Amino acid sequence: MKNQFNIGRKMNEHINNKIFETIANAAAELNQETYVIGGFVRDIFLKRPSKDIDIVTLGNGIQLAEKVASKLKPRPKVAVFKNFGTAQLKFRHYEIEFVGARKESYRADSRKPLVETGTLEDDQNRRDFTINALALGLNKHNFGELTDPFNGINDLKQKIIRTPLDPSITFSDDPLRMMRAIRFSTQLGFEIEAKTLQAIAKNRDRIKIVSAERISDELNKIMLSPKPSVGFKLLEETGLLKIVLPELEQMKGVDIVNGIGHKDNFYHTLEVLDRIAPNTSNLWLRWSALLHDIAKPATKKFTEEQGWTFYSHNFVGVKMIPKIFRKLKLPLNEKMKYVQKMVKLHMRPIVLSEDEVTDSAVRRLLFEAGDDIDDLMTLCEADITSKNAEKVSRYMKNFKIVRRKLKEIEEKDAIRNFQPPVSGEFIMETFGLSPSREVGVIKDAIKDAILDGEIRNDFEEAYNFMLKKAAELGLEKQV
Ligand code: ATP
Repeated sequence: MKNQFNIGRKMNEHINNKIFETIANAAAELNQETYVIGGFVRDIFLKRPSKDIDIVTLGNGIQLAEKVASKLKPRPKVAVFKNFGTAQLKFRHYEIEFVGARKESYRADSRKPLVETGTLEDDQNRRDFTINALALGLNKHNFGELTDPFNGINDLKQKIIRTPLDPSITFSDDPLRMMRAIRFSTQLGFEIEAKTLQAIAKNRDRIKIVSAERISDELNKIMLSPKPSVGFKLLEETGLLKIVLPELEQMKGVDIVNGIGHKDNFYHTLEVLDRIAPNTSNLWLRWSALLHDIAKPATKKFTEEQGWTFYSHNFVGVKMIPKIFRKLKLPLNEKMKYVQKMVKLHMRPIVLSEDEVTDSAVRRLLFEAGDDIDDLMTLCEADITSKNAEKVSRYMKNFKIVRRKLKEIEEKDAIRNFQPPVSGEFIMETFGLSPSREVGVIKDAIKDAILDGEIRNDFEEAYNFMLKKAAELGLEKQV
């Protein structure tokens, strides 16, 4: 079915630039019907800037890419992926992918589809969602015309995610599409159509055959959306969360003992994530928000005297993170360490602001958080989700004091990237010591004296303090 829209000049304006003209000319020379398809077309309607252009051609995609490259100045390099029958080139800020129209059929016993040459319609049938199956002609007879067999335009207008074919088949064929549905819904603020949503719940176990990298790519995109909670609620509702991130799912629910309940940590976490979103686009700070209370279920305890407690949930959380990152194939490098640091320190500014905010406590926090102090404060501010307005305003006021003090002390003491003014080597040399406990004791005493504000962070004061401390330990200066 060819549903030709009269999209008129408006659409032509979008694709009426040099690159599309060039592709159209190259396609005409090869006598191959050619279309722009997928996300790029969707994003024109959504007025989202997009750099990735997918071109589908009824014929050889690699040949078309070579032909297009030969017409561009400077001539771009064509990256050819023979196994997939695709080719890619970069032109200005665009990344353009060429593929021959194909038909895919999946068999129950294999994850890999049988791929055959197909028509435009076959190619649109293998797309994941109606809004991703739109095609714009790049041919003389249909330049700029829309081919929309599943009425994806209407779904764009109604803000609906729907599969072109039976959703159960679409999802069973490539189960990643379930995560993609939820991701698009979160990114775009679209509803997933009821039948499509039911099919996700029904096929959820199929997600187990998808690689961790593809899953975490989608999780990251959910995470970077304006309101990430939408995605995590859908993942929970459909049962996918239990499979892809069970630790988060376990945070759901409220236990009640003697009529005393605790807050639902799953929903609290999602609120924190939504609250941090407007203040940072740092993916790893958002992951920190998602995981800051991850060990609450593991550390939860009820006692008559104290009610519900979650002692050391920050430290236990730090230990849980490598397993979560490893399973999702997220980086195990300094990015994970950063998340661990945020989780470890996430209660510190709150505790600090509950008491009188002393210089010493601020210096210690600066010392531990270093350059990540501002991120930590952003996390803590997002963590205040109480419904009690008076409590929230008190915390926020105290955080302001903490931020002001951080600035003052930072300017005065340069603690953020603290390097001890007297090194261990120097202590050993001065007192003729070999590496030993005493060296550590003196070094720590100097650090504590600086952080407590007893001495300033400079060599001379540290040197005099070292002599005093060493004398207490019965050590004498050798040089
Ligand atoms: P984004 O760029 O935000 O990741 P996108 O849809 O614009 O989303 P791709 O993920 O590169 O970009 O996909 C390009 C097009 O390829 C999609 O619009 C869709 O038509 C098709 N597509 C991608 N992945 C799948 C899939 N798993 N199943 C079916 N079609 C897919």
